Formats: sequence, C-alpha cells, structure tokens
Amino acid sequence: MSNEEFSKISCDIDLDADGKHNGALIVPWSRDESSWGSIPLPITVIKNGAGPTVLFTGANHGDEYEGPIALTKLRASLQAADVQGRVIIVPALNLPAFRAGARTSPIDGGNMNRAFPGNARGTITDMIAHFVTTRLIARADVCVDIHAGGRSMNLLPMGIIHDLPDEKQMAATLAALQAFAAPYGMVLTELDAVGMIDTVVEEAGKVFVSTELGGAASSTVETIAVAERGVMNILKHTGVIEGVPDIPAPSRLIHTPKGGCFVSARTEGLFEICKDLGAHVDAGDVIARVHYLEDPDREPTPLVAEVSGQIVCRHVPGLIRRGDCAAVIAEPWPAAG
Ligand code: CA
Repeated sequence: MSNEEFSKISCDIDLDADGKHNGALIVPWSRDESSWGSIPLPITVIKNGAGPTVLFTGANHGDEYEGPIALTKLRASLQAADVQGRVIIVPALNLPAFRAGARTSPIDGGNMNRAFPGNARGTITDMIAHFVTTRLIARADVCVDIHAGGRSMNLLPMGIIHDLPDEKQMAATLAALQAFAAPYGMVLTELDAVGMIDTVVEEAGKVFVSTELGGAASSTVETIAVAERGVMNILKHTGVIEGVPDIPAPSRLIHTPKGGCFVSARTEGLFEICKDLGAHVDAGDVIARVHYLEDPDREPTPLVAEVSGQIVCRHVPGLIRRGDCAAVIAEPWPAAG
C-alpha cells in the first residue's frame, strides 16, 4: 500500500506479513525532556494466508480496562497457526490516557473517540486516529472496540451497535453483536456520533461492534469474562479461528429511543442513587436524589424517570454536577407491537 496518505506515524512491523508479530506504532512526540522522542504504541498482527481481517481495539478511553486485559491475553495466547486470515490487536488505542488512568490524553486533552477520522498533521490523538483510519480500519472487515464506563459511569455488560440504514450491513452487524454474546445488546441511536471510530467503520460499509462492559474505573471477573468470550466468539463467527461461538444465553436486546431515556442532573450536590443498575423502573419513579449538605433548608432534588424500562447505566462518583448523566433507562428492542 505505497499510495497511502501521509502519516508521521510509522509501524515497526509489516501489517501484511504472515506470522505473529508484536510491534509498535511509533508516534513522534517531541518535547522538552526528549527532543527526538516518540511514543511506541503496541500493536500485534497475527496473519495466516487469505481470509477476513478482524481489528480489536481497547482503551479508546484510557480508564476502561476490559479491553486492555482481554486483548493483552489474546495477544499472548493466539498463534498464527490458529488463524485463517488476520487479527490486528491494539490493546490501548489512547496509550497516553491509559498510562494516566484517564479517559482523555494528558498530552493534548484528546478524547480519542471524538478525534476520528483523525488528522495526520494534528495532535498526538489526531495522528493516532488518522493512522488507525487509513492503515488499520482500511485493512479490516470487522472492527470491535471494547469500551466500559470509565471513572464516571457503570453499565450493565452490553455489546453495542447502531441502527444502520443499509439492511445488509445491519443484518451482518446484528449477527456480530449476537455472536459477541454479552448479556445485553444495545441498538443505539448515538447522541454525538461525529468523530467516533464507530462512524468511520460504519461509513466504510464494514461491521462494527462496540461494548460497554462495566466501569467504575475498574473491571470485574464477570466483565473480563464477557470481553474474553466475546473476542473469541467474534473470531469464530468470522471464521478466523475454528469453532462455534460460545453463547450461554442470547443477548437481551435493548435500546434508548427517547430523550427521556437519559436522565441528567440539573443541580450540583451529593448523589443518592435510588434504583440500582439492572432495576426496572416505571415512569414517575424517583431514580436518584441530589442533596445539598451545606444548605439545610434546601429540599433534595428528585431525578424522576420519564420513561419505563431498565436502569442500564448509572453515575458513579458520590458527587454530581449540572449536566452529568445520572442514569440511562433502556427499553426492549425492537419495541413491542
Ligand atoms: Ca468509553
């Protein structure tokens, strides 16, 4: 691929060579402490002959850990002889953010999942997104980007796809979501789709699956198991490795079709959750309260469900601010009737 767009990032392995190769994207980072310095960003390519290419990415947001754990283990265990086709693994897409335990990059403030399709002449985050778009997504048939809730949210473990207008692409995407086999499967209408890796992959006509596997700045035995099973299932589903996907139960399909599914705080204070993750709520139920510890005369503010459904996401920190997402309520998909 000699006619690829300019990038300042180089890759120290051949993305198209057969065999198993651990390498790095060399991202130039010239700074006071290291004039000719760089960030080596780990990548593994495992290829054996002709077949589909699956791209797995983790730590698109740096404080989400199931992806880095499952992909570090996959990188160690999967061998070229196991594979027909190619697997590209990037365990931490926003490596500077991952190293800082933060959602966004401490170098440029970049939110990787708002930086796509990227910019070859932009910031570190922009340059990585551009390389991923032009070198990795360009080679892939199926992309799986493993997210969780990070520091600020916790979610039920779910695979996520978007409701796509192209019927054939939607059917292939839904089949991949069901093969991933997380306990829940969200069919999402995105609030803020511009700049996401999701949008770049989908607009290229390819299959894209994302996840939200938990959160609260860490991981659990369950969420790691969901990630590891999902990754292996996608490889089986695409025929890159042999075997039938392990689906203990079909994903319960859900969606968030209305603005009322997203409950936001309009004041700042002490956050009391009143309905736990997974609970069913009816419209009118109080799902949380905001208390004003330093203002004894002020009544707490109830956050009330506008729709009925299941709590699939909650705010994690003990304090909440104006505009923070307090909870998300999902309904079954497709809608009954
Ligand atoms: Ca995320």
